[in-house]
Amino acid sequence: MKNKIFEIKNELVEKRSLSIDSYAELIRGRDETLASELRAIALAERERYYGREVYIRGLIEISNICKNDCLYCGIRRSNSSCERYRLKKEEILECCEKGYPLGFRTFVLQGGEDPFYSDEYLCDVVSEIRSRFPDCAITLSMGERSRESYERLFNAGANRYLLRHESATKEHYERLHPSAMSFENRMRCLSDLREIGYQVGCGFMVGSPYQTERDIARDLKFIEEFRPHMCGIGPFIPHRATPFGEFEKGSAELTCYLLSIIRIISPGILLPATTALGSIGQGGRERGILSGANVIMPNLSPQSLRAKYEIYEGKLSSGAESAQEIDKLKEDMRVIGYEIVCHRGDTRVF
Ligand code: SAH
Repeated sequence: MKNKIFEIKNELVEKRSLSIDSYAELIRGRDETLASELRAIALAERERYYGREVYIRGLIEISNICKNDCLYCGIRRSNSSCERYRLKKEEILECCEKGYPLGFRTFVLQGGEDPFYSDEYLCDVVSEIRSRFPDCAITLSMGERSRESYERLFNAGANRYLLRHESATKEHYERLHPSAMSFENRMRCLSDLREIGYQVGCGFMVGSPYQTERDIARDLKFIEEFRPHMCGIGPFIPHRATPFGEFEKGSAELTCYLLSIIRIISPGILLPATTALGSIGQGGRERGILSGANVIMPNLSPQSLRAKYEIYEGKLSSGAESAQEIDKLKEDMRVIGYEIVCHRGDTRVF
C-alpha cells in the first residue's frame, strides 16, 4: 500500500499528470511524510520559476450585492441580514490611488453579480484605471457574464479574470448552486475568457459540503487539462445565514497539501495563499506560501465596508492599505525566507 502511493507520487512528479483514480488515492493515502516530500518538490519548482518572490494583489471588494443564491456564500441574494453596499467609480479609483504608492501593481475588482455594473459602467471604470495606472494589471472577479461582455472589458483594458469553477463534477456543482445556475455556463465562461486572451484563474473550495475525494481528484484533473494561469483554493468556511451554516469547515492541512500538488502539476502557475486559508488559523498564509503558493491578495477595500463583504464568517479583514501594514506583511514573509515584490507579477510560463 505504502509503495503504491509513493509510485503515484513519482508518476506525478515525472509526468505532471495522473489518472483521476490516482489523484484520489494520493489524497486518500496522504500522511505527513508524503505531504512533506510533495511540499519540498513544490517549493523547488516554485523557486525554479519565481525564486523566492511573492506577488501582491490589491483586492477591492466593489459590491456585496448579488443576484445569485449560491448555497455556501454569505452575500447570497436570500441573506436578508446582509447589509448591502456598492462602490461607485470614484470610490474604486480611490482604492487604486491608495494602493499604488504602497507598491500594488495589480488591482483585483471583485464583487457579487450586481446588475448595477453594466458593461458600459464597468468598461468606463476599467479604462480609467488603465489610463491612470498604465503599468498595472487589472484583474476582474465579477462572476458570470456574456462572451460579449468579457470581450468589451478586455478591450477596455482588463488583463486577467478570476472565476472559480467551484467543482469539476457536475453533480457536485449542482449541490452547491441553485438550479438557476449551471455547470455548463460556468465552463462556457471559463473557455470564453481564455479564448478572448485573459489570463484566467479557476479554483474551488476545499471541504465544501458533499465534496468527496473523487470530486477533488476531478478538480485536479480539470486544472491539469484546462491549464489555467492562476488557481485559487481555500477551505470552505460556513456562514450562519446560509443553508450550509451547520456544515464543518474545510481543513488547512488538506488545502496546503493540494497547493503542493497543484504547483507540481503546473509549476509556473500563479497560486495565492488565500484569505480563507489565512482566516482559519494563525499563520495560514505563511503555511500556504511554504506549501507552494506565490501570491497574496491583501484587502484594499475601504476599512468601513470590509466587514460587510462577509462571504464566510470570521473572514480576515485586515488588509495592507497602510504603509505599516504592508511593512508587517513584508516582515512576515521575510521571516519565512520570502520577499514581497512590487511589480505586476505575470505568470512566467504561458
Ligand atoms: N461573484 C464572484 C466572486 C465570488 S467570491 C464570482 O462568482 O466569481 C470569491 C470566491 O469565494 C468564490 O468563488 C467561492 O469559491 C469563495 N467562497 C464563497 N463562499 C465561501 C465560503 N463560505 N467559504 C469559503 N469560500 C467561499
